[in-house]
Amino acid sequence: MKKLFFLLIIPVVFGCKNEKKSDQKLNIVTTTTMITDLLTNIGGDLINVQGLMGSGVDPHLYKASEGDVTKLANADIIFYGGLHLEGKLVEVFEKMAHQNKKTVALSDALNPNTLISSESFQGNFDPHIWFNISYWKTITSYVVKILSEAKPEYKQAFESNGKSYIEKLTILESEVNTIIEQLPKEKRILVTAHDAFNYFGKAYGFNVVGLQGISTATEAGVQDVQKLAAFIIENKVKAIFVESSVPKRTIEALKAAVNSKDHHVEIGGTLYSDALGSAGTVEGTYIGMFKYNVSTIVNALK
Ligand SMILES: [Zn+2]
Repeated sequence: MKKLFFLLIIPVVFGCKNEKKSDQKLNIVTTTTMITDLLTNIGGDLINVQGLMGSGVDPHLYKASEGDVTKLANADIIFYGGLHLEGKLVEVFEKMAHQNKKTVALSDALNPNTLISSESFQGNFDPHIWFNISYWKTITSYVVKILSEAKPEYKQAFESNGKSYIEKLTILESEVNTIIEQLPKEKRILVTAHDAFNYFGKAYGFNVVGLQGISTATEAGVQDVQKLAAFIIENKVKAIFVESSVPKRTIEALKAAVNSKDHHVEIGGTLYSDALGSAGTVEGTYIGMFKYNVSTIVNALK
């Protein structure tokens, strides 16, 4: 009887404890799944993280719902990609900043000289910065600093989590380079649905061509398809890739255009560009996504 009483009382005691602890946690709101994953790695159980966008969601087109605005208003800190990645949320973020809400663009962590400028948006930069692992490490340190300033009592834990995450990213870099070495240099041509992989191309030696521009806001026209089809044939590209957050039809149209001209091109798989895979899967993490993308690209182009 005594034992039973003891078992019953434990959850009650722990329940109270957790509740008290959660009061002290920072409420963090993030936009894309890459950013949610990063904050989860650094903050662990010490923060509450709510991501606005799920797997397969295109950040260029995403609009805030009423529920999102409530989440943003209740956040201690809002982390977003920046450089107009979340093109339709800019106004909401500005409004939040006016209300003295702390908003943090991850792109601010990087030296502007290291950003790729974008032809399609004069004076703007390509926002797909997560595709250079070394940049993601710099961003990790930046997030550690911001969280530590907001919650100095957890500084040590944030720093230790950040350090071990950066170590994992260093291992990832070396694994990625090993996989890419299997692919002869002349075959390193990456054709995808939109221009998400320019940082990837620059860092890991790929010639990258996106059918749509830097943003998905403008659709590819017939001329873009014909021009790219000619490029694929000329360069004997074996495979082109769809993206999980962009409709397949443009890449399918490109494949059809190439194959109508006596050259065979395959769809080499689905890449995770602007969103991670489903939560709970390997591709649902930044590290898993990166390895999956690189293996998919290399296997299809070999
Ligand atoms: Zn994009």
